[in-house]
Amino acid sequence: MKINAYAVSEPKGKLKPYSYELGKVGSEQVDIKVHYCGICHSDLSMINNDWGLTSYPIVPGHEIVGEVVAAGEAVKNVKVGDKVGLGWFSASCMSCQECMEGEHHLCSQNESTIVGRHGGFADYVRGHWSWAIPLPEAIDLSKAGPLLCGGITVFNPIILAGVKPTDTVGVIGIGGLGHMAIKFLKHWGCEVVAFSSNPDKKKHILNMGATRVVNSKSPEELEVIKGKINFILNTTNVTLDWNSYLSLLAPKGKLYTVGAVLEPMAIPAFSLIGGEKLVGGSPLGSPALTKTMLDFCVRHNIYPTVEEFPMEKVNEAMKHLEDGRARFRIVLKN
Ligand code: NAP
Ligand code: ZN
Repeated sequence: MKINAYAVSEPKGKLKPYSYELGKVGSEQVDIKVHYCGICHSDLSMINNDWGLTSYPIVPGHEIVGEVVAAGEAVKNVKVGDKVGLGWFSASCMSCQECMEGEHHLCSQNESTIVGRHGGFADYVRGHWSWAIPLPEAIDLSKAGPLLCGGITVFNPIILAGVKPTDTVGVIGIGGLGHMAIKFLKHWGCEVVAFSSNPDKKKHILNMGATRVVNSKSPEELEVIKGKINFILNTTNVTLDWNSYLSLLAPKGKLYTVGAVLEPMAIPAFSLIGGEKLVGGSPLGSPALTKTMLDFCVRHNIYPTVEEFPMEKVNEAMKHLEDGRARFRIVLKN
């Protein structure tokens, strides 16, 4: 099968039309016709080889929504014609301790959709059936793509940290991931404080359900809410004053980062010790939790706020993200 895609051939390069051949579908694999694909900041980081993981040419795209068009003979759970989503992971070993516990996202043999193989800026993409997540019938396909990476990435730490509806929570960086986190936490019942560096976003952020927007880079503004927050989720990839953020946590508070901060994060021991505070991180979430999240989204009508671009305008879309103009997640349509 010939796949028509968009690929980058060097760091910081432009996306250009690119075709490649996919052999016969494997016994446990499915081929998915891509209807929509969201653009995550990780696509940009992979294009630029920020993490040293990229092999060129790279076809980015890992927030995929589409239809199963071929399935190997040992495929379970999905069949030809089903609408599915495929996110950052596209295969797991299925036999290690983590896979056997249903935590496929923690499998050390995981295959990532755009690492060493080609992703969803294309007409078709392939994956193992375990990561082809069946979509609820009632879901809006045009907005579901970003839930498969950004959505589950912010949903998982809410569960891991045991966030309660009575909690006051904070989200740092209101981009693709951050704005989905605000919507989830609002529906959880929490009081949500947003930390943003862009005053132009304030009105949108309040409309999404945050009760307050604080300048993420202003020590004076941070000072006012010291000791009051139970859970903070960082979605930025930049160095911020982590010690000030730890001081915002109430005793037993937790700071999670899902943002791939490029420099080591300086965390003073005494900022944790006194108040029994915790710092953690997490990669996406399991296939089962992804399914649970999708059902939760349909039940509460939670969707990312998206801007749609045709797949052919992928370079314009990428520039829009890079310039910090996306409000709040870009989705490419085939
Ligand atoms: P995004 O849409 O670009 O949003 C990032 C936000 O960070 C921006 O909107 C901005 O929010 C804030 N920010 C950016 N530069 C900043 C700066 N210099 N100072 C202060 N704030 C800044 O990116 P995304 O797609 O949400 O992804 C966010 C991060 O999560 C990336 O590092 C991505 O690779 C990572 N990620 C991790 C996982 C995982 O499994 N852990 C999964 C997906 C993505 P404001 O304008 O509100 O300040
Ligand atoms: Zn992503």
